[in-house]
Amino acid sequence: MELIAENDEFQGFLRQINSQELDNAVFTLSETISPQIDCTSCGNCCKSLMVNIDEAEANHLANHLGQTREKFDEAYISKGESGRMVINSIPCHFLVENSCSVYEHRFAGCREFPAFHIPDFNKRLFTTYMHYDRCPIIFNVMENLKKVLEFEAKSS
Ligand code: SF4
Ligand code: SF4
Repeated sequence: MELIAENDEFQGFLRQINSQELDNAVFTLSETISPQIDCTSCGNCCKSLMVNIDEAEANHLANHLGQTREKFDEAYISKGESGRMVINSIPCHFLVENSCSVYEHRFAGCREFPAFHIPDFNKRLFTTYMHYDRCPIIFNVMENLKKVLEFEAKSS
């Protein structure tokens, strides 16, 4: 069975599982797997994510970089009509040789990714699978989750 079809079937399977149990399972796997992956030799999330940023984060990083907010916004930010702000470059401006050059000052969205510690994982299956091919943490958590939950694809 093709992996894409298997993963589609797996997502359907996950939607039937108790949400709290699923959150616990992905959190536990992530705690084991994340330390085994060297993010500094990957950086794929920083090459593909659209990073949201809020006013406090923009002020904080502008200050750290010694820039006025005006200059900072001009260089790094795109603003939507609703006032939503995103980093205006993919890959991210601050990625230097697979590492974040502003690591201590990175944004909440960067810190949270791949977000296995955040409740209601079953509502984020689509976005999680968007990064399945490029994030080794997500790939390994999801493949191990199949084993933990004894998932068997019907047409395998
Ligand atoms: S701020 Fe740093 S961690 Fe966040 S996307 Fe940019 S390079 Fe990656
Ligand atoms: S894509 Fe995943 S493994 Fe790669 S740097 Fe980002 S969080 Fe780490």
